[in-house]
Amino acid sequence: MAREVVIIGSGPAGYTAAVYTGRALLEPLVFAGSLSGGQLMLTTDVENYPGFPEGIMGPELMENFRKQAERFGAEVAYEDVIEVDFSSHPYKVKSTAQEIEAKTVIISTGASAKMLGLESEGRLMGHGVSTCATCDGFFFRGQEIAIVGGGDSAMEEANFLTRFADKVTVIHRRDSLRASKIMQQKSFDNPKVEFLFDSAVTEIFEQDGKVSGIEVENLKSNEKSKVELSGLFIAIGHTPNTQLFEGKLELHDNGYIRCGDGSRTSIEGVFACGDVQDFTYRQAVTAAGSGCMAALDAERWLEKNTS
Ligand code: NAP
Repeated sequence: MAREVVIIGSGPAGYTAAVYTGRALLEPLVFAGSLSGGQLMLTTDVENYPGFPEGIMGPELMENFRKQAERFGAEVAYEDVIEVDFSSHPYKVKSTAQEIEAKTVIISTGASAKMLGLESEGRLMGHGVSTCATCDGFFFRGQEIAIVGGGDSAMEEANFLTRFADKVTVIHRRDSLRASKIMQQKSFDNPKVEFLFDSAVTEIFEQDGKVSGIEVENLKSNEKSKVELSGLFIAIGHTPNTQLFEGKLELHDNGYIRCGDGSRTSIEGVFACGDVQDFTYRQAVTAAGSGCMAALDAERWLEKNTS
């Protein structure tokens, strides 16, 4: 029998949609993915999620989201969805372990970290290269490391990494940062954070299978120099996780899902929420808010279209 609601993705958007559809007695199935919890699993202190005056750790917040969804009857499957079929109703959602029919689908697959595109970066991932300061910062106690990027993520992670590393160099391709003023100031005030502006990482060197240094090019003078370090963190933004939906739903030119009229996608009964459809705000709280919208939209759609 077709499920009323299948939710793909388990960040703040997906779990909020699960809480709301669970409370509407729709018994949602959440495909949480093999790496559940979304981007907040890669974060440390979350200080801007309302309701936590002292802040909360990202993974703990996501654990709370999941528990709350399960309390209202959500079923969570830790499987990756590998195919969707929206060509006939009920829709089909195929995971690595099962194929489910769904009357409505809520997409909340989020976005993934962008990489620099160097061959060495992939090879040395987990051996000194990382996109997750929370996961890997601990391994760089007393060492010198660098982080690429000029946005809020780079500033947040640079500051976090100074808990472990002796020195963190922020490498940014322009001469001014994209990050909010308060985050910039925190980094400028941190004596362990240094900046290399107008610069790009052009190579990562290794010794004994681990990062030993990088080549940095000054993009104004084209001069190249070698920096010795043991870790390189990459924080240069994200790509929406929409590969599953290419050709099946209308997407923006940048790959994010196009929504109109709340969370409605170009297919009836298919809704999207969170970072997979939001390239403007991209906050946990806006993702959660849009998850609520998607749940209400799905509930109303079911009321109107099914008996
Ligand atoms: P972002 O704001 O898109 O910043 C990405 C940074 O990486 C930019 O400085 C960009 O340079 C640089 N970059 C992009 N591609 C690059 C490449 N190929 N090589 C080198 N540098 C590259 O991404 P984000 O920092 O991940 O933040 C995403 C969103 O989340 C933002 O809205 C941010 O405000 C929010 N956020 C908020 C918090 C917080 O408030 N606590 C924390 C984290 C994130 P350019 O500047 O030259 O484009």
